[in-house]
Parts: sequence; C-alpha cells; structure tokens
Amino acid sequence: MGDDDIPPNLTEQDQWGGWVMARLDDGWCAALDRQSMLCTIYARRPMICRDYQAGDSDCIGERRLHGLILNAVGIIG
Ligand code: SF4
Repeated sequence: MGDDDIPPNLTEQDQWGGWVMARLDDGWCAALDRQSMLCTIYARRPMICRDYQAGDSDCIGERRLHGLILNAVGIIG
C-alpha cells in the first residue's frame, strides 16, 4: 500500500505478505458502508482506489455485475 494511511483495523496481509484492504466474509471491502455504498474512509482511501474512476467503463461494468445501475448523474438507483 506504499504511502497509504489506512486505519490498521481495515487492513490485512494477503497470501504473498502484502498489505491489502481487509475483506468481509463475502469478499466486499471492510471500509464500504453497505447501506449507502459509500467509502467510510474516502479521504484516506488507498491510491488504488483513487486511481479507479467512478463512472468509467470498469466501474460501470462492476456495477452492472452486482446489479447496481447508475443514473444520469452517477447516483445508484
Ligand atoms: S474506495 Fe477503496 S477503501 Fe473505500 S470502500 Fe471502496 S474499495 Fe474500500
């Protein structure tokens, strides 16, 4: 995670010894608020998340995969 400043309770080591975001039993990121679908550490989110642009083709593909459709202004509806 390099210079990322993630709360330690939201991180874990992967099988290769690298530090990654902790995941819940169902695989979702432990920092995600499941009610609002917003990041609870948005200001401190890791660089990999900062590089992922909301609304780009990868984002839309993932949202479609999980049944989360964006409206015209990018709000889940
Ligand atoms: S932006 Fe990153 S840290 Fe925040 S909930 Fe999503 S995957 Fe987790």
